[in-house]
Amino acid sequence: MTRVQVVEVSARDGLQNDPAFLTTEQKVELIKRTVDAGIDRAEVASFANPKAVPQMADAEGVLEGLGVIDGFSSIGLVLNTRGFHRAATTNVKEVNVVVVSTDTFSQRNQRMDSLGTLAVLEEVIPLAREAGIKATVTLAASFGCPFEGEVSIDRTVMLAEKAAEYGVAEIALADTIGVAVPADVKRRFEAVKAVSGDIPLRAHFHNTRNTGYANALAAVEAGVFILDASLAGIGGCPFAPKATGNIATEDLVYALHRSGIETGLDLDKLLEASEWFAQILDRKTPSLVSKAGVFPPAELLV
Ligand code: ZN
Repeated sequence: MTRVQVVEVSARDGLQNDPAFLTTEQKVELIKRTVDAGIDRAEVASFANPKAVPQMADAEGVLEGLGVIDGFSSIGLVLNTRGFHRAATTNVKEVNVVVVSTDTFSQRNQRMDSLGTLAVLEEVIPLAREAGIKATVTLAASFGCPFEGEVSIDRTVMLAEKAAEYGVAEIALADTIGVAVPADVKRRFEAVKAVSGDIPLRAHFHNTRNTGYANALAAVEAGVFILDASLAGIGGCPFAPKATGNIATEDLVYALHRSGIETGLDLDKLLEASEWFAQILDRKTPSLVSKAGVFPPAELLV
């Protein structure tokens, strides 16, 4: 049976651009609730400049509050070497380095060009190895850039090939602004597979144009078995105009389970966590299974 690992990103991608400022304790509770539903990997913090991304200023505090949980891998986002050194002072298990596919977006996001972010990855990988921290990469704006438009498959393949050469532990293609469609997802991942060897691939989708879930299923068909998702479907990038939520964890899990794909996650617990989260955020969230309910409904199963 096909099995997919869902990486929970609500505490990082979900909250980094959210008008609601959660307290460190609330973030820790959010992560623990998803862990209780079976999540074994989650982006819990970003070691970005706190002035640029104030929602993530308590990165160290979140990791401290979380502590070390058996069988759970915490991930910290890293945008530059300075961020890595901050991460290395915590108990974080993984650092995820962001390499942006285009120069204009890269300058806005990380104040360096695309190859500059690739150089950060090259520098961070041996440092992480020495510190006993797993280093992964997310190729941001792989499917399109808000400032430069189309991103060629050759560009994505070149960045993935370099990351593989540096010894990265996992390569993710991220549709940061939610422009991907299933055919491109398949083509692009197949092209990356040709250069990535045994390195696991991960996919990251936003549902900005309602193609996020179709893209996630297309990625699985293309042999990608690690998917990012955000509880309740919240999220967005502070440096990308009109960026909206990630695909929702509970909606993704519903689609996967009913497609016969295992995740090891407890959908009922995810729905409870999503309801709690919506109360904390004090608004309606984008996920739909949390509103419509599961199918078949529990009362028909007795
Ligand atoms: Zn994202």
